[in-house]
Amino acid sequence: MAAEVLASGGARVTVYDSMPSAGRKFLMAGRGGLNLTHSEPLPDFLARYREAMPHLRAAVEAFPPDGLRDWSAALGQLTFVGSSGRVFPKTFKASPLLRAWLRRLDAAGVQFALRHRWTGWDELGRLEFQTPDGPIVVAASATVLALGGASWPRLGSDGAWVDRLAAKGVAVSRLRPANSGFTVAWSELFRDRFEGQPLKGVALTVGAHAVRGEAMITRGGIEGGAIYALSAELREAVLGIGQARLTIALRPDLDIAALTTRLSGTRGKQSLANFLRKAAQLSPVGIGLMQEAAIATGRPLATLAPAELAHLVNAIPVQLTGVAPIDRAISTAGGIALDELDDRFMLRKLPGVFAAGEMLDWEAPTGGYLLQASFATGAAAGRGVLRWLEKS
Ligand SMILES: Cc1cc2nc3c(=O)[nH]c(=O)nc-3n(C[C@H](O)[C@H](O)[C@H](O)COP(=O)(O)OP(=O)(O)OC[C@H]3O[C@@H](n4cnc5c(N)ncnc54)[C@H](O)[C@@H]3O)c2cc1C
Repeated sequence: MAAEVLASGGARVTVYDSMPSAGRKFLMAGRGGLNLTHSEPLPDFLARYREAMPHLRAAVEAFPPDGLRDWSAALGQLTFVGSSGRVFPKTFKASPLLRAWLRRLDAAGVQFALRHRWTGWDELGRLEFQTPDGPIVVAASATVLALGGASWPRLGSDGAWVDRLAAKGVAVSRLRPANSGFTVAWSELFRDRFEGQPLKGVALTVGAHAVRGEAMITRGGIEGGAIYALSAELREAVLGIGQARLTIALRPDLDIAALTTRLSGTRGKQSLANFLRKAAQLSPVGIGLMQEAAIATGRPLATLAPAELAHLVNAIPVQLTGVAPIDRAISTAGGIALDELDDRFMLRKLPGVFAAGEMLDWEAPTGGYLLQASFATGAAAGRGVLRWLEKS
């Protein structure tokens, strides 16, 4: 995006990427339908960036969700708003958009130097690259770093830039998994039976934070949209005190009185699982979760009174013991401290060097906020470079 803004401003631009082709993580995002952005009102949208919001506001306002939709449409990819408010291309794919974009960049004169891995600066301040033909140096009037975070490193972003910038005195906060899963010590029985099963329409709570949505049981823990939405709070608890307590409500729309009435009916010859399934419309995986929690307290489900069962349905405690590894996370928290950048997205300590995208220290839930901020900060850095080149 920075390259596009720069080329349209008349600059001569080369994009260097260590991978053999451009936009690999963008293509991976396309596997989930390419959630480009979100349609909620801009103040709500901006609030998703939490404490980073003041630093991102101007960039997102200058290239807002509607601007991103127009940009996509101009590349032949019309978008639509899904039932959740999320915005997707009608094709649900990233590849046609990326192809059209690369063609347009090519027509604008942007060069691509692939298999060029940036390794730092030489003593004259030139950019150093490893290439298949050996090391090269490049003198640039200005540089935009858009090297991504550290999730899914096989797609190109591996966070190796952290040490290079830190060596120049740039403050970088530790890269941590965001929108990631968590580990849970499930019993073998539960894990074998319910791995891969979704929990739908649940409400999850950690401390004062609650979300509704879906989660998925994995062999080693739990992941999915609702977990990702709480991942910042859960991660900080796990990293701080070694564990986090998640509370799951399976029937968040039913209060305890209504549930107790339903669960006070006669069971007859039904198994407890069948009774719970029918009386409170609980899924087998939900009942399995209740059983896990009940066994952990030494009181199996069969010994609980209707009111206790009703309470458990909407307050199942799950102990999270660790964060899933960053290489499987959707995005990265941490990165270049936002105070290190001026309002042009130029690094104060490295005049002429700009930074954009996920390598900056912001995080946001899934929902299109990640790509939107990456696009918007890329465009802002491009405009920043044009201003800088004008002056120098
Ligand atoms: C599975 C998955 C699904 C996702 N789905 C969505 C979604 O639907 N919606 C959404 O908003 N976000 C989604 N994201 C997140 C989104 O893809 C990223 O936030 C976004 O791609 C970040 O853009 P970026 O340009 O900052 O970094 P990246 O896209 O990571 O690009 C960084 C580039 O820098 C290159 N690079 C890194 N180091 C070097 C080096 N030393 N030398 C040369 N080149 C280097 C890399 O090869 C890479 O091409 C998803 C992510 C994943 C992993």
